[in-house]
Amino acid sequence: MGAIAAARTILTRLHEVMASRMHAQGKLDRVVEIIGENLDSEVCSIYLLREGMLELYATRGLNQEAVHVTRLAMGEGLTGTLAQNVETLNLAEAKAHPDFQYRPETGEEKFHSFAGVPIVYRERAVGALNVQHVDPRRYEDVEIEALQTTAMVLSELIANAGLIDEEEALGLAVTSDEPQVFDGLQLVKGLAAGRAVYHQPRVEITQVMAEDIEAERQRVYRAFDRMRDQIDNLANQAEFGVGGEHEEVLETYKMFAYDEGWSRRINEAIDSGLTAEAAIERVQQRTRMRMREIDDPLLADRMHDLEDLSNRLLRIVSGQLGTAATQGLRRDSILIARNLGPAELLEYDRRRLKGVILEEGSLTAHVVIVARAMGVPVLGRVRNLRGMVREGDELLLDADNGTATVRPSQSMADAFDARFAKTRERQALYAELRDVEPFTRCGTRIQVMMNAGLRDDMSTLPLVGADGVGLFRTEFQFLVSATLPQRDRQMRLYRDVLDAAGDKPVIFRTVDIGGDKAVPYLRELATGSDDNPAMGWRALRLALEREGLLKAQARALLEAAAGRVLYVMFPMVSEPWEFDAAKAVFDEQLGFLRQRKRVLPEAIHYGAMLEVPALAEVLDLVIPRLSFLSVGTNDLTQFLFAADRANPKLAERYDWLSPSILRFMRRIAQATVGQEVDLGVCGEMGGRRLEALALLGLGYRRLSITPVSVGPIKELIRKVDLAEITEAMTGWLASPPPNMRAALAEWADTRQIEYD
Ligand code: PEP
Ligand code: MG
Repeated sequence: MGAIAAARTILTRLHEVMASRMHAQGKLDRVVEIIGENLDSEVCSIYLLREGMLELYATRGLNQEAVHVTRLAMGEGLTGTLAQNVETLNLAEAKAHPDFQYRPETGEEKFHSFAGVPIVYRERAVGALNVQHVDPRRYEDVEIEALQTTAMVLSELIANAGLIDEEEALGLAVTSDEPQVFDGLQLVKGLAAGRAVYHQPRVEITQVMAEDIEAERQRVYRAFDRMRDQIDNLANQAEFGVGGEHEEVLETYKMFAYDEGWSRRINEAIDSGLTAEAAIERVQQRTRMRMREIDDPLLADRMHDLEDLSNRLLRIVSGQLGTAATQGLRRDSILIARNLGPAELLEYDRRRLKGVILEEGSLTAHVVIVARAMGVPVLGRVRNLRGMVREGDELLLDADNGTATVRPSQSMADAFDARFAKTRERQALYAELRDVEPFTRCGTRIQVMMNAGLRDDMSTLPLVGADGVGLFRTEFQFLVSATLPQRDRQMRLYRDVLDAAGDKPVIFRTVDIGGDKAVPYLRELATGSDDNPAMGWRALRLALEREGLLKAQARALLEAAAGRVLYVMFPMVSEPWEFDAAKAVFDEQLGFLRQRKRVLPEAIHYGAMLEVPALAEVLDLVIPRLSFLSVGTNDLTQFLFAADRANPKLAERYDWLSPSILRFMRRIAQATVGQEVDLGVCGEMGGRRLEALALLGLGYRRLSITPVSVGPIKELIRKVDLAEITEAMTGWLASPPPNMRAALAEWADTRQIEYD
């Protein structure tokens, strides 16, 4: 019999067995006979998970005495290996496989070929279905598919018949599952513990065998239609514009959505007797298997796209729509996703969302910028994440060390709790400093402000007790929007922010989009349009050319600050005229509002960021124009060292505490001495204690930092004598010690000043 015909026969006969009134063990015994006969295999065996071991439940061809006797641990032998890895094995010569193990009670020594598939229930292998043959031969693809389909049918039978312990299958009870520690890239620092929640919950397939094939076919047709409509709509949305990466991705989606081969294969699977859901899943399994054999990263990416689309189709056909956010988080959760958009992240309840783990992600991904602002730790670039973590698994996320532990042992959890408790204790100590003004030991008041970018961030202002917002990144609103935020929407945000800040100042930085902070809805801002995004057409450079953008923002800010003091800061100013041009846009809008007799801001202070080194050479020219100057050390240092701040390979190569950066910073500080300009730092550097110490020693008296650092920096300030640190810095910069960080650390140690 041909392999295709054999596969058909198997399904038809499985149907009969499943519909029969036989008890579960009897059904399993029949199934191994049917498979063995039709796949022309002397042996067919079913192993099921019981008390953490894979137990032989039924066999044709192996010694019957071995049934319920032979037991394998997960990972033991070929069966244990395929179950553990949730993968298919197809071997012409079983003994040649490194994981092969011989079990004498089974009498399997005479068989050469081996093929096995995991039986999967709720994403976990709960058993295995194997065939063996005397001749060394690889099984054909259709035969493997028949095995996989059978495994799907079996998982339904097993669950219904209670052959496996539901708790065990879900991994909630103690199982043989070992804790697993995995590595990733630290995207946002922090510790978090919680249960794994999939951003897009997997669809539960509750019925595998179709009762009415024609009805299933219609369901799948309708689902395809809806999915294609959705993809077309996405592609047609004007906001996406043309060109760029988004379009490419959508083109690929479209290609798959309309792929005849894909829909045909699903139809064939339905023909063989599967429900629409099971058919989609079957075809997906087959594609996954094929792709595993091809080691091509480009294709792997495409595979992700197809997987996404297949999941979308499954959700449509089963009516299980929505993300975990729409269903609501019920407890402390760690979100698991391949990738996320910033808006998707913002949909989650901040009180319950404790951390995020992504298969992809990069330091400058929008979602990461937003997560940082939300104070949610993020670990990225975790390979095979979805293969290791199941929905509901307990997770300990240690983004500080770039690791996470799934299903931790008690001792691991205890150690983590202890660390966690320590950080919380410290936070409680810092909270006590909330209302304490940061004066140095010698009595100088230092301004400690915080960085913000979202409306929600403003609630942390009173909690940490910062002196105001020293950098409000207005581009966040642009990054999280699907369309360009209209002027009145901008205005409402700014007004809310000012309301929340009360008497405290807020420095609004005009949009710094472009380059790596690409927004999808402006064509020329799509990712990839600049070869060197950080040094590209971004921030003020772009805003001055897309004047409409800056005009709208200027008006929104001026209106929002009616009757109040407004602070406006321009990013990436490289030459004085750029500052003048930007300010002129504000003046023009101010004139317009004045003409209309609208309420104007009580006062407007304009400032510039110093993040392009060239500006430091012309400070004498630019300072008279400014009321304040804020050093953006994130960009400044990347330009000084010619080291992309988003490149993880360079992340630790250069130190902020290097003589070149510190001398540069001193030079800026010295240029402002005796001038009427308020100098500050608003890059990440100011939020780290040794760095902050150095900055104080260089003459900086205003730091705007990430909110969680406000407490620790206040504590530091209270222990510092400015004359002392200034003298030390002067000495070190005149003749730098071999390791500036070590020198500062030692200096801090001798004064009982704690640092990170
Ligand atoms: C900086 O460059 O230091 C800065 C504060 O701005 P951003 O991180 O938003 O580029
Ligand atoms: Mg910057």
